[in-house]
Amino acid sequence: MERTLILIKPDAIARGLAGTVLGRFEAKGLKIAGMKMIQLDEALLKEHYSHLADKPFFPTICEFMSRTPVLALCLEGLEAVQVCRNLCGVTNSRDAAPGTIRGDLGMSMQANLVHASDSVETAQAEVARFFSDQELFAYEPHLLMYLYASDER
Ligand code: ADP
Repeated sequence: MERTLILIKPDAIARGLAGTVLGRFEAKGLKIAGMKMIQLDEALLKEHYSHLADKPFFPTICEFMSRTPVLALCLEGLEAVQVCRNLCGVTNSRDAAPGTIRGDLGMSMQANLVHASDSVETAQAEVARFFSDQELFAYEPHLLMYLYASDER
């Protein structure tokens, strides 16, 4: 099992697509281990996007990512990191394949709806950056299905 960090970005929040984006991950079969709304500040953004700090568009990323709160998710599943990257599609939404979140819902490179950790190592660091141990939940995802099954007896 792997855990990965997803951020539902300000463009998805502003467009009323947070539930749609979350639903794509849920429908795929990923389990929500943690979820919260958070207002990103400059210090957190500098850490999170440190690999882009020398890019000319870095200030606009920080401005964009703090325009509204974001929805932070820790998702869990077999090979969850790569599965979530595949679901998101490539960075530039206009190039992203139909069937991916960015390919279906986005037209922008920057406002591309969603962040997903890009490797298992990055995911571990990013989950720890956004969630405390108390905010991550271990539970049996199929418990409700057993309850429904007992209804029918
Ligand atoms: P990804 O989010 O697909 O892993 P990166 O880590 O390379 O991509 O970039 C982080 C985020 O920075 C992107 O999701 C996008 O919002 C923004 N970004 C990347 N490249 C550009 C660019 N050339 N112009 C504007 N924003 C960009």
